[in-house]
Amino acid sequence: MLSYRHGYHAGNYADVLKHTILLQTLQLMHKKDKPLVYIDTHAGAGGYALSDEFAQKTGEYLEGVAKLWDKTDLPQSLQDYVAAVRHFNEENPDELNFYPGSPAIIDMELGPKDRMVLHELHSTDYVLLDDYFCEDRQVKVLNGDGLQGLIAAVPPLERRALVLVDPSYEMKTDYQDVAETLIKAHKRFATGVFLLWYPVVNRAQTEGMLSRLANSGIKRQLRIEQAIKPDSDEFGMTAAGLWVINPPWQLDEIATELMDYLGKTLGQADGNITVKWEVGE
Ligand code: SAM
Repeated sequence: MLSYRHGYHAGNYADVLKHTILLQTLQLMHKKDKPLVYIDTHAGAGGYALSDEFAQKTGEYLEGVAKLWDKTDLPQSLQDYVAAVRHFNEENPDELNFYPGSPAIIDMELGPKDRMVLHELHSTDYVLLDDYFCEDRQVKVLNGDGLQGLIAAVPPLERRALVLVDPSYEMKTDYQDVAETLIKAHKRFATGVFLLWYPVVNRAQTEGMLSRLANSGIKRQLRIEQAIKPDSDEFGMTAAGLWVINPPWQLDEIATELMDYLGKTLGQADGNITVKWEVGE
């Protein structure tokens, strides 16, 4: 049974990194005027109220998006991100009451001929997500396993896709399943842009998944990671990152500028940031 609910974590430092890079990736892909499909394998509820019991219980957004809200020196990528979050709060854009999940962020930037395919397995979050997009004909919401859904969805008709793989890593097998699925999806559709979100709770477990990808023969793999504190044997996430296969041109430069800023703003004194091509051309 699934127990993870993204509402506890919405807007935390890991979401800031993930959603900023997601938005920049879509914007870079949109420089080419051709339709694309956005595939979200683990979509969540779509959007979140920060006043609800989940967000209030952890207060994680206070250490993430809330710290950027009034900043006047943000790099362009974070200006775009905060503008998107403000837009999601359009009834009262000066107050941070709601937080857009990955589907809502992409929805704000979707081109007229683009489409979205969203997978969510949790029955409650699926219903919320389906309600959110029920009148949107560009969006298909599926209540099923996102990894199987990804394999079924590629190659897409458009031959252009942005894929976000953002699991909750509740099962030990998730790390292996995710790596094998990405390798298979890439085999079917080698030009897709794949963003894999990962946590560092146990460094060896995370690196096992990432090295499987790095050693798979797939070219062009970029690591973007923020450690807010050093790796530890104690329980809890010490770092989070995105592993990008086929990043669009200039995403690495944008990520470097972004991570320099996030390292100073959201990290701790002994934290660390990484933007590194793990596999080149
Ligand atoms: N992508 C969302 C965002 O950025 O706003 C957050 C997603 S959250 C980290 C992971 C989601 O995956 C949870 O809502 C969980 O219920 C869902 N989930 C877990 N296993 C799944 C599976 N096998 N297929 C699809 N969704 C799954």
